[in-house]
Formats: sequence, structure tokens, C-alpha cells
Amino acid sequence: MAKRVLFQQGEHRNVMLEDFGPGTMVQVNQHLIVHGNEGVILDPGGHKTYTHLLGEVRNLLGAASLKYIFLSHQDPDIGSSAGALMSGTGATTYISKLWTRFIPHFGYDADLISRIKGIPDEGMVLPLGGLELLVLPAHFLHSPGNFHLYDPVSRFLYSGDVGASFGEETLEVQDFDAHLKFMEGMHRRYMASNRALRAWTAMARTLDIEAIVPQHGGLFRGKALVGRFLDWCDSLACGVDFIDGPYRAPKP
Ligand code: FE
Repeated sequence: MAKRVLFQQGEHRNVMLEDFGPGTMVQVNQHLIVHGNEGVILDPGGHKTYTHLLGEVRNLLGAASLKYIFLSHQDPDIGSSAGALMSGTGATTYISKLWTRFIPHFGYDADLISRIKGIPDEGMVLPLGGLELLVLPAHFLHSPGNFHLYDPVSRFLYSGDVGASFGEETLEVQDFDAHLKFMEGMHRRYMASNRALRAWTAMARTLDIEAIVPQHGGLFRGKALVGRFLDWCDSLACGVDFIDGPYRAPKP
């Protein structure tokens, strides 16, 4: 598992842990934000990543404590390790209120359930070491109850599956046009509709974003790439925009 400090300023750090190793599982990025004496881990991934992850997180936190586990949505590659992380650290898990009663099926011990907190549909402010992180609605992108996280110090927008790419082993996207083929198919199929994407980009444009940081594949750093990505989302037909396609009963 490789780790990389994406941003550092005083007592604030944004660290990415990633594992591009071969395997049948989808590649995931795990992100840690530490501010002062508190940390949050975003979308920590599945059981296979957990053992390495807990060791790395403890090293990176140093004297700080893991206050939160933030789950953008309910998928297994996002948070099936969260229960183990909770018992190992004392952290509280935040996920859309739509999913709080589903994720215990990943196998959480009963005493952890009270530490799973539901995020209201409108999002919330999450205090971390004196800092205020913004939990932003990203519903239907792709999950019906979906949130992203904005860090006002690094000005990173952690965007979950929005901006995700597969098959290109890059940490930072350099050439947007060459990168398109690694994210196009996934966005067309998984994201709910162009209308949902445009609602999200309108919100994103109200923020000062230095980088869009997805949970799979390379990130988009700098205003030019962030702008190109938002423009691409605005014009992308996806999800139910193609509803007339697959609804035909197969011929026996
Ligand atoms: Fe997902």
C-alpha cells in the first residue's frame, strides 16, 4: 500500500493511501484528513484492505485520534471494513441516513451500531480539530443517498465515485482527453442522470475547489482540470437518460 501526502499546511494534512495491486477487486483510494489532533478517513474500503490500512492510519495519525469514518455511500468497496476500523479506533461512522440500517449487515458488532450516524439529506457541517468540513449532497451520483466531503483548507472536494476511473495507474490526471476513456463507461452506466450531474456541478461551482479527488483512479488538480471535469459532467448523458435501451424481455 502506497501513501502520498497530497497537501500539507501547518497542522493540516491530506494523505492518500492506494493499492494498485493486481486482483479481481476494484481498485480503491483511501483518504485521510488530519487537522490538529483529530482525523477522518474517507471510504476506507473492504476487509482485504483493512489490516494494512489500520497500521498505516495509526502511523499517520501519530498522537491524533481517528474521530470519524466518512462513507460516501453504502457500497462494499466503500465501507465494508468500517466496523473493524470502528472497533480498532473508537471512531464514529457517518453515512446517509438512508443506509444506517443496511451497513450493519457487513457484520458490525452490536455495540458499534450506536456509533453509526445518519447524515440528513441536506448534508451537514462536520467539525474536525477546530475545522469545519462540509458534507455535500451528491444524491443519485450514484447512490440514492450519497455525500461528498469538502475540505476548506486544502480546498479538495472528495467526490466518491464521481470522477472515478478504472484501468489507468495514475495518481494525478495530466491529460484530460486521454483520461476520458478510463471514466466514461462507468459514469454513463452508474450515474443516475444528466440532471443529477448538473445539480451537483451547480453546487460545486459555488465552492473554491483546488482538486477533485475521487475514490477510484487519478485525481484532478488545478482550476483548469477541475473546470474541464465539471464541464464534462454538465454535458454527459448517463443513467436513465438511456432508459429506452435495455427494457426488452430476453427471447427464450
Ligand atoms: Fe459505488
